Amino acid sequence: MSKELLKLIDQLALTHSLTLDEYQALIEGHTEELAAYAADLACRVRRKIYGNSVFIRGLIEISNYCKNDCLYCGIRRSNRNCQRYRLDADEILQCCDNGYALGFRTFVLQGGEDVFFDDAFLCDLLQRIKTNHPECAITLSLGERSRESYEKLRAAGADRYLLRHETADEEHYKKLHPSSMQFQNRMRCLADLKELGYQVGCGFMVGSPYQTTETLAKDLKFIETFSPDMCGIGPFIPQADTPFGKETAGTLELTCYLLSLIRLIKPNLLLPSTTALGTIHPFGREKGIEAGANVVMPNLSPQSVRKKYTLYDNKIVDGSEAAECKAELAARMASIGYEVVTDRGDIKKTEFQ
Ligand code: SAM
Repeated sequence: MSKELLKLIDQLALTHSLTLDEYQALIEGHTEELAAYAADLACRVRRKIYGNSVFIRGLIEISNYCKNDCLYCGIRRSNRNCQRYRLDADEILQCCDNGYALGFRTFVLQGGEDVFFDDAFLCDLLQRIKTNHPECAITLSLGERSRESYEKLRAAGADRYLLRHETADEEHYKKLHPSSMQFQNRMRCLADLKELGYQVGCGFMVGSPYQTTETLAKDLKFIETFSPDMCGIGPFIPQADTPFGKETAGTLELTCYLLSLIRLIKPNLLLPSTTALGTIHPFGREKGIEAGANVVMPNLSPQSVRKKYTLYDNKIVDGSEAAECKAELAARMASIGYEVVTDRGDIKKTEFQ
């Protein structure tokens, strides 16, 4: 194993910062041994901050209508084969009640950019969830909105917002999105969310088409400088009805290695081991946790719509991926030495804040 690269990992663990070239060297030099070394350091630092706790979030996929046409995404506007659905407020509230009874203390409302969900609807919904479950955190993941909208949603009770930056390289961004979507606007949204006091999550797909070690190095540098509270990374998985339907999926190995590096960049980060990781490998989510992740997001959506939220092919929707199978998830996590906890799971402020 290259001594230089080991030294770089040590340096990252110590200073939480590298140059773009150094990040790129670490990605290009990725080997199993280097990944094991990074994972070991990542797990040690995470253990110091979060012990062996794994936080759970109840994911409610509220709509698969989307006005956007992202080239990678199965719920993109142009996909005529996508069976569209939208949950109403009562159905969403019911999901939260079910989740609460199962021990979830964070609800993540995610969906396509569905114009039906205007500020009035969402603010009313947020207030109702907060009234029913005042001790729970609410995360929104509803894409790009105006600053004014983010401000109203925050005031109505939203605590966190997930908006993956998708790639920190503008040229790469243009290859993944239609020209109606602008890299600068995504960056504007992320900056607004932070300024408005949300706990903010960015993130990207590993192995997305046209991704290079250079664009990945920029992603790591972006995470270092933006310093999000959460970061969602998972493998890109092709969806047959999209322009990228015949592209190759991202790998478990590179995703796990990047999870470790990201943990070292920001030790107190809330880092999910994603459904996409669980989809490409039967023990993907366990491997993500062992690489340094500390969050899992089981599905709380009504059973009837789970298969319709098809971002990518073969998405896992039952077994320990389903919120109602929390015991199975807890057993899986226990088998690798971790404990699923009933907790809001806020970011722990440390000197790495
Ligand atoms: N509309 C909101 C947004 O854009 O942030 C939230 C929903 S969007 C479908 C959630 C995430 O799914 C995206 O940020 C993207 O990274 C991921 N995703 C979409 N298509 C994917 C695919 N084919 N493989 C893996 N992840 C995918």
